[in-house]
Amino acid sequence: MTITTKTGNSAEGGLILALSKGRIFEDTLPLLESAGITVLENPESSRKLILPTNDPGVRVLIVRASDVPTYVQHGAADFGVAGKDVLLEHGGEGLYQPIDLHIASCRMSVATNAGFDYESAVRQGARLRVATKFVNTAREHFARKGVHVDLIKLYGSMELAPLVGLSDAIVDVVSTGGTLRANNLVEVEKIMDISSRLVVNQAALKLKRERLQPILDAFERASQTQG
Ligand code: AMP
Repeated sequence: MTITTKTGNSAEGGLILALSKGRIFEDTLPLLESAGITVLENPESSRKLILPTNDPGVRVLIVRASDVPTYVQHGAADFGVAGKDVLLEHGGEGLYQPIDLHIASCRMSVATNAGFDYESAVRQGARLRVATKFVNTAREHFARKGVHVDLIKLYGSMELAPLVGLSDAIVDVVSTGGTLRANNLVEVEKIMDISSRLVVNQAALKLKRERLQPILDAFERASQTQG
């Protein structure tokens, strides 16, 4: 049986925001503050998965980054913040994406072992083994380039795959490049720039517009000043 909630928490008329721990949570806090909302517990030290705020009408769900679009799509959360990387894999169905928040910025790139000649392999039409969590993005990228690839789906630590011969290349998000360098990998091609976006449940946008709109407006204003 599939249970689909159209708008989360609608009986109470409250709002539920889905966030992931780490950079997205930290970078969203100033945007929430600009809307007068303070999260009252730190997800790094609290074991709670639903965090209260100073506004009894707003609560924050802490979920895995890749689950944020799913919670919002099904209305278990009214709105959320998710990276473009995650949204491209999810497909964005049922989600309204009004604002690029310009937070948690990074890039999606191809990386290989330092000794691997990626350019030659591509030029010679070699079939590449590519390990990634981002299979849709990777498939589209290599299809556009006309490069034949065997995609290997991983759920974490993509950097390990070329080191142990599981793949020739990885597609992963890169921020400082420190993780690649520490593992003797080289970024050989940027696929796209990534930042996090606000996503809103389409039904919530209509039914809870009065409560949501001021928060969306505050996020939009505050995000214009983010780098
Ligand atoms: P870095 O060493 O700074 O290049 O960070 C790379 C690692 O951190 C990668 O393995 C990513 O999984 C993760 N990472 C960095 N920035 C982000 C981001 N904005 N969104 C998601 N994951 C990130």
